[in-house]
Amino acid sequence: MRNSLDSVIKPGRYIGNEWNSIHKDHSSVDVKIALCFPDIYEVGMSHLGLKLLYSLLNQREDVACERVFAPWMDMERVMRDKSIPLSSLETHTHLNQFDIVGFSLQYEMSYTNVLNMLDLGGIPKESSLREGLPLVMGGGPCTLNPESIADFFDIFFIGEAEEAFLEIVDIFKGVRASQGKGEVSHREKEELLFHLAKVQGVYIPSFYNVGYEPCGKVKDITPRYGWLPEKIKKRTVLDLDNAHYPTKPVVPFIQIIHDRIGLEVMRGCPSKCRFCQATSIYSPRRERSMDKLLNLAKETFANTGYEELSLLSLSTGDYSNIMELISRLHETFKGKGVKISLPSLRASSIMKGLETILKFTKGGTITFAPEAGTERLREVINKRLKIEELLKVARLIYQAGRRNIKLYFMLGLPTEEYEDIDGIAELILNVSSMRKELDGKWGGVTVSVSSFIPKPHTPFQWARMETIDALTGKQEYLKTSIRKNRWVKMDFHEPRLSFLEGVFSRGDRRLSSVLKRGWEMGCRFDGWTEHFNFQLWQEAFKQTGLDPDFYALRERDIREVLPWSHIDCGVPDEFLKKEWVAVEANKPQHVLRRPASR
Ligand code: SF4
Repeated sequence: MRNSLDSVIKPGRYIGNEWNSIHKDHSSVDVKIALCFPDIYEVGMSHLGLKLLYSLLNQREDVACERVFAPWMDMERVMRDKSIPLSSLETHTHLNQFDIVGFSLQYEMSYTNVLNMLDLGGIPKESSLREGLPLVMGGGPCTLNPESIADFFDIFFIGEAEEAFLEIVDIFKGVRASQGKGEVSHREKEELLFHLAKVQGVYIPSFYNVGYEPCGKVKDITPRYGWLPEKIKKRTVLDLDNAHYPTKPVVPFIQIIHDRIGLEVMRGCPSKCRFCQATSIYSPRRERSMDKLLNLAKETFANTGYEELSLLSLSTGDYSNIMELISRLHETFKGKGVKISLPSLRASSIMKGLETILKFTKGGTITFAPEAGTERLREVINKRLKIEELLKVARLIYQAGRRNIKLYFMLGLPTEEYEDIDGIAELILNVSSMRKELDGKWGGVTVSVSSFIPKPHTPFQWARMETIDALTGKQEYLKTSIRKNRWVKMDFHEPRLSFLEGVFSRGDRRLSSVLKRGWEMGCRFDGWTEHFNFQLWQEAFKQTGLDPDFYALRERDIREVLPWSHIDCGVPDEFLKKEWVAVEANKPQHVLRRPASR
């Protein structure tokens, strides 16, 4: 790979040897693990989970853990032309030489990159075709329904991996020691999987049979052996304060997406927005103590020299002592040129301490996520937001000299009507006008509009998704509504991309054949709009005889066996059903029509 760097863009993606990277002699360890991120280096290196596992696993003397990222298209061409296998950044070991190859599954639209990386790494894609090692393992949010990609994995891990990964390594090491050296036979691999299946959170897809009704719905999901659990329980790290945190992360040579310290202050979220899968994934809510956070921040700064520190969680404004934390961090880093930044906030959670936030988080844009344009729809999705509070906060932000506010919205939510889209336009203009009251100028607003995608393990998991045409129409309608305001910048997610994400996120095992066909036809980096090719996907569905509408557009009956019914993420089914029934009961009975003109 190294000899080909002069012919690709951003060679820094492939050279390794960065500050704090760890290189071990493979002959002195028992288990070699490749942590694979199915996207480019700049995206993968911004991910806290990858840094965490890299540092945690490398703390063990018996483990060598190395990083592998998806090569960009130019590098893939070179690798295929010159038959260069995909290898790790640390020791340039070929992917198929590792014992465990673990993929971080963050986004359904990176699934074809998983197949591509296996292929480039010399590993057969289907688990049924693989003999011996490496074990191919998947973890991350997508494993809440891993069925669409199940054919390609030996193991999935559901939940937070800090404790369980160490157990997996111990079992792997113990079983392998008892099996003796040399190639791992089919029987020995089965023996390994048998032992690993006993770890809470581990799901071995080949140990479960899926039956289908003649109409295509899942009929049943049954364990192949009596001792296997019917439901695989998500794993959670309860003591966050003592959980591992990577204070010596690898510092890249090149600019990455989030080039800063990501200090995780909390897991989980006190809110229960009905569309939100993250709140199910990371429940229950747990915080790190302030003293712990200050120490972690100081240590990480000393080890990296980063100039920005971002307070990470699903809803950082809800951290119990957020204002005190920000002031103390500010005090700690005073004069050291470290900027403190915050992700999306709830307006009500920062009302009292806004002054502190504006004083100590210099420069950056403050982000809010109202998601829907009217009180009615926000109630349907259970998004608690008081518009008066949002406007008050917006006014104070502009008053403090900030030029821009960022807002997130979704189109296509269940029960949405055109009045709700009018409400989005109105809300944006109201926020912008908060500056007008101060100095006569419109305030800057950056708006990101995504499409609602029903996700597993949420109260909306039974909902139908809007068609591509309907979503496109709604985007056009909203654009027209605020076209005249040049202070508003809008960014819309591509509806066809959202549609496919909707297909794979609620898919069953049969979709593995579509993924493989899509990959064979050249689909890669599907989450990147410039590489997304919807026609190829349509063709892949046609050739495999599966209908994407069946997965995305169909409202599920509440009694239906869902493809992810055997995954228990800790949120009771009864709660999800009650929530969905409440939404259904308030559904408008008329057909929604777009107003004739605006
Ligand atoms: S506030 Fe954000 S993270 Fe929390 S439930 Fe709502 S959408 Fe999810």
